[in-house]
Amino acid sequence: MKRDDFTLISAQDLPKDDVHIVRHFIDGAWVDSADGATFERHSPAHGHLVSRIAKGGIAETESAIQAARQTFDSRSWSETSGKERATLLLRVADLIDQNRSRIARLEVLESGKPISQAEAEIEGAADLWRYAASLARTLHGDSHNSLGSDMLGIVLKEPIGVVSIITPWNFPFLIVSQKLPFALAAGCTSVVKPSELTPSTTTILGELLIEAGLPSGVVNIVQGFGDPVGSVMTTHEDVDMVSFTGSTIVGKAIERAAADTLKKVSSELGGKNPQVLFADADIDSAIDAIVFGIYFNAGECCNSGSRIIVHEDIAQDVIARVVELSKKVPFGDPLHPDTKVGAIIHQGHQDKISSYVEDAKADGAKVELGGAPIKIDGLEGAFYAPTVVSNLTADMPIASEEVFGPVLSVLTFSTMDEAIAMANGASYGLSAGVWSENIHTCLEFSRRVQAGTVWTNTWMDGFPELPFGGVKESGQGRELGRYGLDEFLEVKTVQMRIGRTRTPWI
Ligand code: NAD
Repeated sequence: MKRDDFTLISAQDLPKDDVHIVRHFIDGAWVDSADGATFERHSPAHGHLVSRIAKGGIAETESAIQAARQTFDSRSWSETSGKERATLLLRVADLIDQNRSRIARLEVLESGKPISQAEAEIEGAADLWRYAASLARTLHGDSHNSLGSDMLGIVLKEPIGVVSIITPWNFPFLIVSQKLPFALAAGCTSVVKPSELTPSTTTILGELLIEAGLPSGVVNIVQGFGDPVGSVMTTHEDVDMVSFTGSTIVGKAIERAAADTLKKVSSELGGKNPQVLFADADIDSAIDAIVFGIYFNAGECCNSGSRIIVHEDIAQDVIARVVELSKKVPFGDPLHPDTKVGAIIHQGHQDKISSYVEDAKADGAKVELGGAPIKIDGLEGAFYAPTVVSNLTADMPIASEEVFGPVLSVLTFSTMDEAIAMANGASYGLSAGVWSENIHTCLEFSRRVQAGTVWTNTWMDGFPELPFGGVKESGQGRELGRYGLDEFLEVKTVQMRIGRTRTPWI
């Protein structure tokens, strides 16, 4: 691998921010852990200490659940009008906008993602709070007025109750914003646990919720690890629902843990998302989307377009052009405004990415570009070179499992049936894409592919209005859109007899 092949962005002025102190937010108060335990987060790109965090235990988690339970049961939040809830959510959105730079910088320092991307994510998050406000205002049930002259049926939608929200490290502020405003719009109360790797921006969200006027106990935040915080949040009998985003392995463990109390679990899990290129595709557009799809967020993205399935007639041309464009992707210091790809989340994860590539090489794969960690001048963090790997079979781990790094797997096909079989061959079913100038090809692929989202002649567009989620081992339930609100609602049927017309049973 040659360093000159890549567009590297060396360290700028190293950050000198104060250490961010992160506490739990329980029943409206900022508190340390009862035993005083803390842990630290260092910048994965720069290496310096970014935040010191209260390490939650069973006591903090139970207090937070109790606060959410009592607040819900008091009906003080669930009985507010949609107008009041919407007004509050809109206020939060404005505050997110006003604090965008501060939130984005902390997001960069804890996650290693580029600053321009972080800014865009925080802007997108504010939009989610605005969209959820519109749902709060328009939430309604249903009525049945055709059950006979003496009967009226009403279907009420009611908040499900106390929701545990557990989020991952790859899009900390965006993902909590795909869940929490929808839960609040529905009238639920919540306990939130961000990833131990990216705790700070959820804390800032807590500050903004207070400033916006959210009553105590409606949202509670506990910092810490899956054990014990996440574990208590998913097993406690006072929790009605778990909304989880993270790995499939933890998602399955949560489903099992929640089964004893039969909580509802909605889960957004991993993916091995294929982009299928037919021979008549608009190659220029496809190449750019492939490069974006694999390197965005350093490939640490559930929606990463981590494998392409290319018609054999165009495969060599596509590989050559993807390699050339990959060399131009600016990567390095995430605080530089031009950087498009930043650091890998931690060294252990970088090692896992490396081992996928090394194993593939041992199995006969061809590394067309990259294939190793790369040092960025002035930075001690973990960076992995943009990597393209070909000569694969669909069953190899690199082509079927979630690598979660900037590593593109290339497979080839000759017929639609073969392409569909490969696309559907992975255990995941989050998203998929098709590139063809033929509408019939795009429609056939969209109908036959197993995925929660299909992109035709595009990749990774997203809108608050459109539901998002996975099939198979990519999860259960949907976020965003009206479906995203429905996840947090129970349905209650009310049957009302009109007049004294019921025929006596006896
Ligand atoms: P992870 O599963 O390791 O952790 C996610 C969260 O779960 C963290 O807050 C963690 O502390 C917590 N946790 C860990 N063990 C737990 C347990 N036993 N009980 C309860 N909580 C527990 O995932 P990660 O490494 O933070 O995130 C990367 C994964 O997330 C990838 O697989 C990615 O595909 C997935 N992801 C999916 C989506 C989506 O929308 N489908 C979005 C982003 C990330």
